[in-house]
This record gives sequence, structure tokens and C-alpha cells, in this order.
Amino acid sequence: MPPHDANPPSETRLCPSSRPEMPGSRVFAVVGGTAREPRAGYLQELIPTAQALPLFQGPVTATEVLRFTAACGTNDCRHYDGARCRLAARVTAELPAVVDVLPACRIRHECRWFNQEGREACLRCPQVVTDSYNPSDAARHASDPAVYG
Ligand code: SF4
Repeated sequence: MPPHDANPPSETRLCPSSRPEMPGSRVFAVVGGTAREPRAGYLQELIPTAQALPLFQGPVTATEVLRFTAACGTNDCRHYDGARCRLAARVTAELPAVVDVLPACRIRHECRWFNQEGREACLRCPQVVTDSYNPSDAARHASDPAVYG
């Protein structure tokens, strides 16, 4: 039942679809499942990205199997419209729920998506992958910034 807090201070919100190169990046989930049906498992403790990246030197890249969080980029992010995260809105509106209870996620109280879209974002969040090379049509559409014009 969104929104909880439609316009929170940006510095208090974390992006749950961040990238490893972002300042302050930490790993908060590991992606399992299959290429077509990925499912994130949420870590009990966040790991600084600099500690995790050296473990990935083979054919699988960290962005295929890890989820990263860092401060919401607000106006520096193409998904942000000046007040809201459009990626969070589209994931919530366009993707199916893949779980029926809230994942045990450590960043919830700071998460931009949860604070904007509520639990419906969390029920869809486990299927999000940082870099997917074989996304579903729905996932590709929901994350494509080209629709913003
Ligand atoms: S499960 Fe919910 S609170 Fe956790 S990162 Fe995903 S959207 Fe945010």
C-alpha cells in the first residue's frame, strides 16, 4: 500500500539496484535460481563490495550473481524523476510477485523502493538481477530507461 514516504530525504535512502562502482557500495543479496527465474537470497549482514569482488575472477561476473546497494543517486540517476524512482514504480507495476511474504531483507528501513512502493516492491524484488544477459521480456521492459524519452 504505497507510498509510505513519497519524498524522503535522499541521503537516508538506499538503492537496492545499485552497482559495485558506486561509492559506499555493499553486497546485500546473492542471486540464485535460474537464468530465466532468478531469485535473490538476502544476506544477514551486508558485505563491503571491495571484499566481495576479488572472489569473482572467473567467467561469472559479480553483477550476475550479487546485488549491490548504495545511496540513492536521485538526480544523478536516469530512473529518478525528481521526486520518485521510476524503476521502483515500474518493477512494482509490471513484474509479477514472486514471493508471498516479505523477504528478510536487512536494508528495508532504508530502501528507496520499499519506502516508495511498499511491500509490493519487496514481493517482486527477488527476481531483480544487476546484470542479466537473458532477462524475461517483462524484466527487460521494466528496467529500460528508454521509455522515459
Ligand atoms: S526486499 Fe524490499 S526492502 Fe529489500 S531491497 Fe528489495 S525492495 Fe528493498
